[in-house]
Amino acid sequence: MIDGGVAAEALAVLERLGVDQGACAGSTLVVQSPITGETIAHLAESDPGAAAAAIDRAHAAFLQWRTVPAPRRGELVRLLGEELRAAKDDLARLVTIEAGKIVSEGLGEVQEMIDICDYAVGLSRQLFGLTIATERSEHRMMETWHPLGVTGIVSAFNFPVAVWSWNAALALVCGNSVVWKPSEKTPLTALAVQSLFDRAAAKFGGAPEGLSSVLIGGREIGEVLVDHPKVPLVSATGSTTMGRTVGPRLAGRFARAILELGGNNATIIAPSADLDLAIRGVAFAAMGTAGQRCTTLRRLFVHSSVRDRFLPRLKAAYGSVRVGDPRETDTLVGPLIDETAYEGMQRALEQARAQGGSVTGGERIDLAGGHYVRPALVEMPGQTDVVRHETFAPILYVMAYEDLDEAIALQNDVPQGLSSAIFTLDMREAERFLSSAGSDCGIANVNLGPSGAEIGGAFGGEKETGGGREAGSDSWKAYMRRATNTINYGRTLPLAQGVSFEV
Ligand code: NAD
Repeated sequence: MIDGGVAAEALAVLERLGVDQGACAGSTLVVQSPITGETIAHLAESDPGAAAAAIDRAHAAFLQWRTVPAPRRGELVRLLGEELRAAKDDLARLVTIEAGKIVSEGLGEVQEMIDICDYAVGLSRQLFGLTIATERSEHRMMETWHPLGVTGIVSAFNFPVAVWSWNAALALVCGNSVVWKPSEKTPLTALAVQSLFDRAAAKFGGAPEGLSSVLIGGREIGEVLVDHPKVPLVSATGSTTMGRTVGPRLAGRFARAILELGGNNATIIAPSADLDLAIRGVAFAAMGTAGQRCTTLRRLFVHSSVRDRFLPRLKAAYGSVRVGDPRETDTLVGPLIDETAYEGMQRALEQARAQGGSVTGGERIDLAGGHYVRPALVEMPGQTDVVRHETFAPILYVMAYEDLDEAIALQNDVPQGLSSAIFTLDMREAERFLSSAGSDCGIANVNLGPSGAEIGGAFGGEKETGGGREAGSDSWKAYMRRATNTINYGRTLPLAQGVSFEV
C-alpha cells in the first residue's frame, strides 16, 4: 500500500482530509509521486459495471436535485467552499505530492476551487432567461433554463482538482448531478475532493445520495461515461488525441461536449514592449508548472528591434530559475509528471535541433528519482513542424519577426487555439491583436502572459483545443437546457407569421 517518505506524508494528508483508507487498499492502479517516483498508493479501479451503477445513482439523484430551488442548491456549493477553505493547505499539499506542483501553485489551484464555489453561489440566484417581444397580441414569450442531467467530468493530471470544481460547482447549482473520472495519474486528490464534498453534503442535509461521485481508472472507465445514455453532457479536459475519440462518440449519440484540449500558446514581444513586464510574464507562463499547463507559453515571437535587449535577459532568467523539490518554497519549477513526459520532451528537442533550432537548457537534473529538467529555450529559424505541435513540457520556441501582421499570422498558423498574448504599449497594436483580424484564440491578453486565467471569464479555446467554455461569463448555459415558452392570455388564437387555418 503506502510506504515511507512522500508516501507517508500522503497517507497523513489523506487521513486528515477524511479519505477512507479502504479506498487505498486496492491493487490494480499504482499511484506514484513525481517528486521521487515513489509509489504512494495502490487503488482499486472501478469496473465498467460499477461505473454504470454510479451513473444510474447519479441519474436518480438528478431527478430529485432538479426540483430543489437553485439558491438552495447554491447553499450546498457554499458549504463546499467552506470545506475547501478549511482544508486548503492539506488539499494543496496533496496536489503537490501527486501532481508535483510547487507550493504556491498547489495553493493557487485550491484557491481557484474556492473562487468558483463563490461564483457559483452568486450564480445560483442569477440563472435567468429572457423575455422576448412576441409578434402576437396578448401573448408573452420567454425562455426558461432547466437542469440538464448527469454531468460527466473527465479531467487531466495537470489540474487535478480545479477542473472538477469549474464544472461541478456550476453543474450543481444548475441542478445537475456529477460523475467524475479523474486522471489515472492523480486519483488521490479526487478521492480527497469527494471526501470534502461528502462533508459539505452532510452539513447541508438532504442532498440525494449519488449527487457527486468519483470513478477510478483510465480511458476505459472514461468511455463508460462518454457512452452512457443517461449522461447528456461530458466535459472532457485533456489531450487533443483524447478529444478526437471523445468528441465523435458524444456526437454519435447527440450528447453535449465541453472539450478543453491541448494548446500551443504564443506571445508577441512588440518594439514598444515594457521588457521588465515581458520578462516576468514570459518566465512564469513558459516555465511555471514545469511547462505542464494547457495555457503554457510555447511560442515566442520577438520583434527583431528588441531581440538583443530581450533575449539575453530571458536566457539569464532561464539559467537562474530554481528547479527542484516542489515542496521547498524557493523552488519555481518542479518535476515532470513521469518518464513518458521526459522522453517526449527530449524527442521534441532532438527534432528541434534537426529542424535548425539552437537549444539552451533542457537537460535532466538528477534529483531523488523524479524527472526534473532545466526548462529549454530554443531559438528557431521559423515555425517548423515541431513548433506547431504541443509538447507538454517546458520548451519555449523563440522566433523573430519584423511586421505585426506577419507575427499574428504565424501565431494563428497552428492547429490549436487556446491562449495568446502581446506585450506592447502601442494602442493600435494592442487593439489590432484583440480585433477580429487578430488572435484567433479563446483567450487573448495584453501586457500579461497567456497563462493563469481568472475564473470570472469564460475559459477555453478554438480549433483543436475543442471549442468548449468553462467557468465564468455565460458558461453555465452549457450545463442547462433552454425551453422557449409562449403563453396566450387572450381569447383568440393568432398563428405566427400570419398563417390562417380556420376549421
Ligand atoms: P490525456 O488526454 O492523456 O488524459 C486526460 C483524461 O482523459 C484522463 O482522465 C484520461 O484517462 C482520459 N481519457 C483518455 N482517453 C479517453 C477516452 N477515449 N475516453 C474517455 N476518457 C479518456 O491528458 P493528460 O496527459 O492527463 O493532460 C495533458 C493534456 O491535457 C495536454 O494536452 C493539455 O494541454 C490538456 N489540458 C487542456 C486543458 C484545457 O482546459 N484546454 C486543461 C488541462 C490540460
